[in-house]
Amino acid sequence: MSAGPTESAAPPADAAAPARQDFIRQIVREDLASGKHAAVRTRFPPEPNGYLHIGHAKAICLDFGIAAEFGGHCNLRFDDTNPEKEDLAFVRAIEDDVRWLGFDWAELRHASDYFEVYYLAAEKLIRQGDAFVCDLTAEQIRAYRGTLTEPGRDSPFRDRSIEENLDLFRRMRAGEFADGTRTLRAKIDMASGNMNLRDPALYRIKHLAHQNTGDAWPIYPMYDYAHALGDAVEGITHSLCTLEFEDHRPLYDWVVDRVDLAGHPELLASLSARGLPVVAAKPRQIEFSRLNINYTVMSKRKLTQLVADGLVDGWDDPRMYTLQGLRRRGYTASSLRLLVDRVGISKQNSVIDFSVLEGALRDDLDARAPRRMAVIEPLKLVLTNLPEGHAETLTFPNHPKDEAQGTREVPFSRQLWIERDDFAEVPPKGWKRLIPGGEVRLRGAGIVRCDEVIKDDSGAIVELRGTLDPESRPGMEGANRKVKGTIHWVSAAHAVEAQVRLYDRLFVVEKPDDESTGKTYRDHLNPDSKRSATGFVEPAAAQAAPEQAFQFERLGYFVADRYDHTAAAPVFNRSVTLRDAWTAWS
Ligand code: ATP
Ligand code: MG
Repeated sequence: MSAGPTESAAPPADAAAPARQDFIRQIVREDLASGKHAAVRTRFPPEPNGYLHIGHAKAICLDFGIAAEFGGHCNLRFDDTNPEKEDLAFVRAIEDDVRWLGFDWAELRHASDYFEVYYLAAEKLIRQGDAFVCDLTAEQIRAYRGTLTEPGRDSPFRDRSIEENLDLFRRMRAGEFADGTRTLRAKIDMASGNMNLRDPALYRIKHLAHQNTGDAWPIYPMYDYAHALGDAVEGITHSLCTLEFEDHRPLYDWVVDRVDLAGHPELLASLSARGLPVVAAKPRQIEFSRLNINYTVMSKRKLTQLVADGLVDGWDDPRMYTLQGLRRRGYTASSLRLLVDRVGISKQNSVIDFSVLEGALRDDLDARAPRRMAVIEPLKLVLTNLPEGHAETLTFPNHPKDEAQGTREVPFSRQLWIERDDFAEVPPKGWKRLIPGGEVRLRGAGIVRCDEVIKDDSGAIVELRGTLDPESRPGMEGANRKVKGTIHWVSAAHAVEAQVRLYDRLFVVEKPDDESTGKTYRDHLNPDSKRSATGFVEPAAAQAAPEQAFQFERLGYFVADRYDHTAAAPVFNRSVTLRDAWTAWS
């Protein structure tokens, strides 16, 4: 489907790259060396309640990257325990995103595949005296929980008999009780300094259809319980997640230890019966810091809100920080992998400057994207000393540093489009481009002198007329004659009209979601984040496949729009400018 540099087939782990040395890989190396694990197993566990964003790229590159580097395997697991927020469309998009980033999963799983195991494990906890059915309302549970400085109070239902608990839990499962009337809670410690251990809920009642299991379940497991057990079922050795789960680790370990799946294979029988291979092991959770980038919002909830409020044109709007949006903007999979490598893995929270994201894309495309010429704000230039109807083809290299990319033919004729702002009647200081009576080099074609400026009645410039120095043409003796500036151009008779979408950052402040000022990210939108121009591109650019990236000389990196571009009606998105204007200004 796609062609050229946006292709994602490149292997994520560059064999020639030096081995990555972060603390997680260090742990994995040690665990393999000591024989603690024979093979490494990881998973990427998104909740299908929204589209993936650039932060997820970090987790994906880590989870799948480690498995690939150490010859292990990585599952894609949908943590689908929250049916009211989840959707099959998100599932498909997430699969698409992971593949696009250059990864593939060993197995595709869902937390919902394990609902039966989770249920049986909960009965086991009840029988062990580790869980009880609680009749407190959500509000009462909050009141009983205590605070960071005060211990909580035991639920009055905490000492129910095992028989009563089993009976009530089975009736919860049978759908006898209304939503919110009961929960199954772990019996841990209401005085614990860690709030997550104050008898957390394991199951809640929700009479709600699930995208995978339909109406089979009126109760759904809570995230912490389901996540830990999901890891255990799949034999995940290293369960990698972001730092906000650090406080949940004691609960994670509690669930894994008390259920002890590996020691109770009978719990897993329902899975083998359904043909789901089971490994069952004791996983270890390891936390790393989230990817944060300034000038962005990076949470599914906020990105959802931008779409819902109509502030962007959908999930894959090229200004969005979803993977779908970035892809459409022209971000390549390899540039995102490069970003993740550059940012590294640690436990240190930090905010990455937006220029690091753009820099990764520039470096990736500089090395790979073919060069083309395009004019975005066209001004006609007539070369009066060429005969009417003059036409020739010039041969241009596709890439200045990569001969393997070959050459292309660029038509040249008497009438050209040049960039309006490459001409100045009254030039500012240091100007190197065209002025009345001045000379400039037309990239690869020769040197032109501007003889005449044609204006309309309102005084606006509508056309330039000039003379092409015949001695400066390619191959002629004067071809290398020095002039100050070089500008790009396209032949007016041959160029193809194109829609050029000029995107910029969506937000004008570094922390758009900092609400301490009483403002919200809606107050910080960049009014100029999207402009559209009608320009002209050389024929070899018009013929691009969707998602093909180019450097339009002197303008930036552009990509043929994934959905709207055709050779007859080209549409290009500006992915990134050649230089970082934001940092230069501030
Ligand atoms: P959000 O907060 O945007 O809703 P999430 O963490 O709820 O994201 P999940 O679907 O639960 O999204 O995330 C799947 C995995 O991606 C988790 O392991 C999570 O730790 C990781 N992840 C999410 N955001 C980031 C980020 N900014 N940087 C690195 N990893 C992330
Ligand atoms: Mg989440």
